[in-house]
Amino acid sequence: MENCTLAGGIVEGDSPTHLAAVYPIVEIFNSVQGEGYHAGVSTIFIRFGQCNLACEWCDTDFSKWTEMTVIDILGIIAKFSAKNVVLTGGEPMLQDLWPLVNCLRKRGKKIAIESNGSIEIPEGLIDWVCISPKDQMYPQVTIKQRKGDELKVVYVGQDLSLYDELKQGFTHHFIQPCYFENQSVEWNGSNFQATEKLVKENPQWRLSLQTHKWMGVD
Ligand code: SF4
Repeated sequence: MENCTLAGGIVEGDSPTHLAAVYPIVEIFNSVQGEGYHAGVSTIFIRFGQCNLACEWCDTDFSKWTEMTVIDILGIIAKFSAKNVVLTGGEPMLQDLWPLVNCLRKRGKKIAIESNGSIEIPEGLIDWVCISPKDQMYPQVTIKQRKGDELKVVYVGQDLSLYDELKQGFTHHFIQPCYFENQSVEWNGSNFQATEKLVKENPQWRLSLQTHKWMGVD
């Protein structure tokens, strides 16, 4: 299989069907994780196109993508030395992630996901599950993935008791002030202050900041 040289070489047990699977990919890049539990860790991000929600503060253009095979994706990833891979979007769980994850695992990668939780994640698919629910915006959307490693709540002024039950299924609880590009500097500043106050009053939550935005990196 000649193309496998592009994917960092043939790995024993690679399935031709998995290598040929196609995904809608917005971008693949290596950066330092800026937020949440793994902030500061060199990470490869695979950003998928498409989302089943349309949050008004969303800062990701997931409407344009390139169809890429797993071989294409592995060929890009082979250039980076980071071990951690984050599947993000858009909403990555709109895809059947097994073919890609199987091939990444064979290459020693640790797989994390950032998902809105509206689609249940199959047992064993992902090594680190980070759910960022959007029920402050979409109360009618049921959160189906109710357990994982990291719950990351984007704060826009909602009552934290909204997460009393959900947070029991997660090991780490983060609250992150929404940076809303369409809002004024004053609104964002006061939302940052309110988030800091909330963490001081509710120490079971940890503050998460989008430090990559301060650094001006992806
Ligand atoms: S769930 Fe995430 S990716 Fe989808 S619209 Fe909301 S913020 Fe954007």
